[in-house]
Amino acid sequence: MTRAQWRAGIHDRIVQVGECAEWTGDFSGVTPVVYAPAGFAWPDSLKGKQSVRGVLFFMEKGRRLTADQVIRPRCMNPQCVDVRHFQVITRAQQAREQSRRGELQTAQARAAKTLVGRRNAKLDDLAIRQILTSCTTSAEEAARHGVHRSTVSAVRRGDLWAHVLPAASVFTWARAPR
Ligand SMILES: [Zn+2]
Repeated sequence: MTRAQWRAGIHDRIVQVGECAEWTGDFSGVTPVVYAPAGFAWPDSLKGKQSVRGVLFFMEKGRRLTADQVIRPRCMNPQCVDVRHFQVITRAQQAREQSRRGELQTAQARAAKTLVGRRNAKLDDLAIRQILTSCTTSAEEAARHGVHRSTVSAVRRGDLWAHVLPAASVFTWARAPR
């Protein structure tokens, strides 16, 4: 295989998806990678897996990243290898951004979102039990709890708040096998 053939093989594994050029080849974690024979990625490159973005960056700019630089796709598409979407940042910047993103995904952050969701819910477990056990019409229950009549109907059908139903548990939510 010549270097030109190897480069053509890289382009064969890139497809245009919307504004991004997406890698359809191998990934190492979230990084698009390609196997490169020695000296193919750049003059003194060793044989082995290379970052596709690093290879394309070298082809485009004629230089390599410095040791403390990394490429991040500005589009945030992990499959994107479009050189026009590359943003060169330092490893320190990347670490800061990753930790910021991580903060949004902690259990604490999820719990906070859940609490906000609960606060906005007009019904609680007690109201659900009243709706389920009372003999009033859906319209009357809707007026009493300040919700739409269709909500009361959905509760009574078991489509909403199913976990409050008598003897309900997450294991009984699924339809029983026949
Ligand atoms: Zn992109």
